[in-house]
Parts: sequence; structure tokens; C-alpha cells
Amino acid sequence: MDINALKGKIEQEISSVKNIEDLEKVRTLLLGRKGILSEYIDRIKTLDKEERKIFGREINLLKQWTEEKLREFKQFYEDEEKNRRELVTWIDISMPGKTPVTGKKHPITQTLEEIIKIFSTLGFSVAEGPDIESDYYNFEALNIPHDHPARDMQDTFYIKKGVVLRTHTSPVQIRVMESQLPPVKIIAPGAVYRCDSDVSHTPMFHQVEGLMVDRHVRFSDLKGILSIFIQEMFGSNTPLRFRPSYFPFTEPSAEVDIGCVICGGRGCRVCKDTGWLEILGSGMVHPQVFRIVGYDPEEVTGFAFGMGVERVAMIKFGIDDIRQFYYNDIRFLSQF
Ligand SMILES: [Zn+2]
Repeated sequence: MDINALKGKIEQEISSVKNIEDLEKVRTLLLGRKGILSEYIDRIKTLDKEERKIFGREINLLKQWTEEKLREFKQFYEDEEKNRRELVTWIDISMPGKTPVTGKKHPITQTLEEIIKIFSTLGFSVAEGPDIESDYYNFEALNIPHDHPARDMQDTFYIKKGVVLRTHTSPVQIRVMESQLPPVKIIAPGAVYRCDSDVSHTPMFHQVEGLMVDRHVRFSDLKGILSIFIQEMFGSNTPLRFRPSYFPFTEPSAEVDIGCVICGGRGCRVCKDTGWLEILGSGMVHPQVFRIVGYDPEEVTGFAFGMGVERVAMIKFGIDDIRQFYYNDIRFLSQF
């Protein structure tokens, strides 16, 4: 008699049990009056005295082991059934349902969409360009000479020689003007990258670039468009002012400030007691940029502007650390 083979078979049968019905079937198969173990016990009678003693004990132990295993399984399934019943009685179907937690748009996405909406109503269409950009589009075509500080390795992520992660959305201006004749009236939203990180800088942030080119576009058109934008974005009483500045691709250039929305212009920590907050850069498109894309600067004029979306969101929502946007802390993000 092969006791090991018998044990193997019993284990195999027990391991096939998946529920309480299986368990009863297996019990009959193994321990029933015509079951496998009974068959072996019957066979013992045919052995001689010595063998009978040895196999008798072995079979008995195996039988005990099998009974114990089946008892454990039974207990397990009974407990499971009990828990299930308790759970069912515990659920009060007359209780109001729980609202599932839903996600919402990131504050930067919300701000970006609002900016796009305002400019769309002013007739601007949305243009896009690649995040990985050539040196030519990111710098050269924008009249940024080789020795300009913007090309410094500290600011720019270089992929390889001549290829960068775009440091601004301005390359889209060039791509659009290369591919279409004037008039042009676009905004270019998107991610930009700079090797910089502190309370007011993150290595990736978002910009919206604006470009309008046509015959007789004047600085006053720029002021008009930006005034409408700022009033829509920050409230109709928000003042703005232009400050002379320098960008290689605009001439003249100006920074635009808005009256501090925190203190209403009286002076506070956020505006460093000046009553003004810097919000965007702008200017009239440099004639050299027009020549590069094949436009005639004697025929057309235009303005361009660029703003940081995080900056706009920080001012609008009163956030003092730009990195908050990217910690992915749900307690912060769910406030918007
Ligand atoms: Zn202030």
C-alpha cells in the first residue's frame, strides 16, 4: 500500500475546495462510507498481522489529519458567511448615499482656460509649438544674440548642441509667421522650461504668448487689448501701467504692472510696498524679427506679449509659493 500516494491524492482533493458545497462533496469522497479512506481501511484486513499494525496506524493518522483539515475549512466558510450576513444587515438602504470623491481641474489649467477664453472673445486663435525646440526658433529667430544672458547654461536646459527645452513660448510666434501671411492674431499657451527653482520659480511652468500683426497695429492697440484682459481677469477696477523695459524681440518694450490686488495699491508684503505687481512683458515686434520670417517691416507692424500662467494664478488666488502648484497636495489643490 502506498500511503504517500494516498496522502497526495487527499491533499489534491482538499486544495480543490472553493466553497462550502465543494467541501461537502470532498468530505464524502474522502471520508464517506464508500470513500477513498474506507476503501484503504477495508484493504488492511487482507494484510498480515505485522503490516496491519503499521498501515493501520498510518491510515488512522491520515484520517485524523483529513478530518482536521476539513473542519478548518468549514470554520473558514462559516465565518465568511457570517460576516457577509452581518454586512448585509448593517447596510441601511434608507440612508442617503455618499457622494463619490470627484477630481477637478488643476488651478493652473483653470487659469490657463480662463486666459484663453478672454483672448478668444477678442478674436485671438490658439497656436501651438513643440516643447523641444531648436536653438534657431528659441533664440536666433527672436533676435537673441549669441552672447545674450538668456542663453546662459544656468537658465536653459540643453538637450544637445542646438536643441533646447523651450525657455519661452515665443518660438511659436516665429513658426506661425513663417507659415502664414499677415494679418496674424494668435495666442500660444504652453509649458516652458528653465533651470531654476525657488519660491517664485519652478523648472517647468506655463506661459501664454500673444501676437498681433497687421497694417497699422499700434502701441495703443496693445494697451487696449491688455487693459481688457486685465479687467476681465482681475476685476474692472484694476489699474495697469507700462514700464519701459528691454526684450531682444520687441522695440519698444514694456513690462506691464497691475495695481496690487491684495492691498488695493496701499502697499503690502506681496507688492513690496509699491502698490504694483509685475504681470507680463510686452512690446512692438522688432523689425528684425519681421525680416527673419519674411514679413516687410515697412508694410506691417505688430505687438507681442507674454505672461506666466503660474504668476497670474498666484496673484489671482493669493498664493505666495509657486511650488505649491506642483507638490500635488490634495488639501491645497481641492481649494480651487
Ligand atoms: Zn500690495
